Amino acid sequence: MIPEMDEPRSMRMKPEQLKKELEMRKEVKKILGKEKLFLEKGCVHWSKMSGKMYGKRSIGRPMTDRCESRHNIDGAICQKCYAARINQVYPSVGNALQRNRDLTIEDLHDDPTIFTSIDPTWRSNWNGDYQDEHDVRIDMELCRMIDYATCTTWTKNCDIVERMDSYRPKNYTVVQSSLMINQFEEEVSSSTDQVFTVFTPEYAAENDININCIGACRLCGRCYGDNMRKRPRYINELLKGTEKKYFELLGML
Ligand code: SF4
Repeated sequence: MIPEMDEPRSMRMKPEQLKKELEMRKEVKKILGKEKLFLEKGCVHWSKMSGKMYGKRSIGRPMTDRCESRHNIDGAICQKCYAARINQVYPSVGNALQRNRDLTIEDLHDDPTIFTSIDPTWRSNWNGDYQDEHDVRIDMELCRMIDYATCTTWTKNCDIVERMDSYRPKNYTVVQSSLMINQFEEEVSSSTDQVFTVFTPEYAAENDININCIGACRLCGRCYGDNMRKRPRYINELLKGTEKKYFELLGML
């Protein structure tokens, strides 16, 4: 049984709608280009990355020891991860990610984050993952400080989040990232609000997977916000660059 099939039909995205939203994705930069992208102040390094995170407030961290070992698992999404290349391609980004890992709670209070434009949501771990409880504690403290905004964190290391449950503020939410391509995570953590999985176009088309991620978070927003009823339990994305193949397989191109 594919677990996402338990979700109400109303939570499913029709392929026609997916196609339309993917076409709109091209417009994001044009739309946001007219907006002055926000400028954050404070000790946290906020991403200015393009791609999926373009225009979305997000913080990243370096890879962890677990990332290294998962990279060697056949069929794991970690084999497609670009984080390993970040330090070589963008050394300054690698340094900034390390600064986020080195932050202390005192740093957050001495030089607090100020959002210069209103955005009620932000993401943690656009790159890397939680290494230990300290990383989680930093995000939870940020949630307390930016209390009007909801954080969505991506992690494969839910056991670390579980250990911090007693500190967890209401505006901290968790997306558990499935390890394997074409396989919903079997052990869903009690700390998890949503499950994120990546699929090949062939598997998605054959198995009627509800592809509902368009790879442009600022435009989409399905993984963000404090209204959990509007956030689908299962978020499913195609492997990057395979959208055309998917629609061909569905006979839509
Ligand atoms: S489904 Fe989630 S991860 Fe995908 S684009 Fe939308 S908000 Fe971003």
